[in-house]
Amino acid sequence: MVKRKCSVCGRNAIIHRKYEGRALCGQCFCRSIERKFKKTVGKYRMIDSGDRIAVAVSGGKDSASALYLMNMILKPRKDIELFAISVDEGIKGSRDLALKKARELCRKLGIKQHVFSFRKELGKSLDQKVKKDKLSRGDICGLCGICRRWILNKKARELGATKLCMGMNLNDEAESIMMNYVRGDVLRASRLGPVTEYSRSKAGGKFFIPRIKPLRWIPENETELYAKLKKLPFRPKECKYRGGLRIDVEKVLDMLEKKHVGVAFTVISTFDTMLPGIRKSIKYSEPKIHRCKKCGEPSSHAVCKVCLLWKNQKD
Ligand code: SF4
Ligand code: ZN
Ligand code: ZN
Repeated sequence: MVKRKCSVCGRNAIIHRKYEGRALCGQCFCRSIERKFKKTVGKYRMIDSGDRIAVAVSGGKDSASALYLMNMILKPRKDIELFAISVDEGIKGSRDLALKKARELCRKLGIKQHVFSFRKELGKSLDQKVKKDKLSRGDICGLCGICRRWILNKKARELGATKLCMGMNLNDEAESIMMNYVRGDVLRASRLGPVTEYSRSKAGGKFFIPRIKPLRWIPENETELYAKLKKLPFRPKECKYRGGLRIDVEKVLDMLEKKHVGVAFTVISTFDTMLPGIRKSIKYSEPKIHRCKKCGEPSSHAVCKVCLLWKNQKD
């Protein structure tokens, strides 16, 4: 097989981007990722002077790349602070190993990391909860995600963060969009997008830290390749509980991508075109934000989902 040459500099290529019709060598690939990252941050005005940015670092490839890139673009800025937040869900054999990598990464980059655990914040680890409540595989991931977002938002707010940077890549975002279509959840769909506008709204602004997703236009295989080329510590293996609707949607999108290159890009850009309309359509039906009666965190119901699904049982 003839080795492809980099479309930019002519050196040996290490990746062929079918969706762009060009091949890139390691150096040109990294430059292109860095340009894309900066462009996304600038285009959606993700950063303001005086920001305190918390990056959610899980120990996986995406958040490792997000932290590295954020650190790179913010280094010359003395007016912006950067730190990392990690959540220890308490999953033996997977998340504990990933967290080790997250610690290693923060040390390597010299970034302060704050770690919060399910055990301390919610009374028990996810492993203990799964065992006690005999949770099915389909339910575990959804519940864990709700609790993780609850901890991240609460702790980012308590630490004075003005933005919460998430490591969602192109595939994650396309999956989230499709999941909301499948579920028929227009309200949740209205809260997607590169910056969670919802948290800037009157209703949610005080309690929700705006989430930013600067990797949103970078495919999953490329966040991984970037992390590898930059020798960032990360755990390549997925969490043992990963499951639920996301897996099915992921399979469908993978199958489509093989036959129709660039599907994930199309899903997101079409959604972005519709998003202002979606947000307008739910403007009057948007639920009021309360403080949860039990934990005081923001919720669209009197009791938030974490208190309802996790804490409500007599533990
Ligand atoms: Fe939690 Fe699911 Fe992520 Fe595992 S994959 S850490 S269960 S949200
Ligand atoms: Zn090149
Ligand atoms: Zn609550």
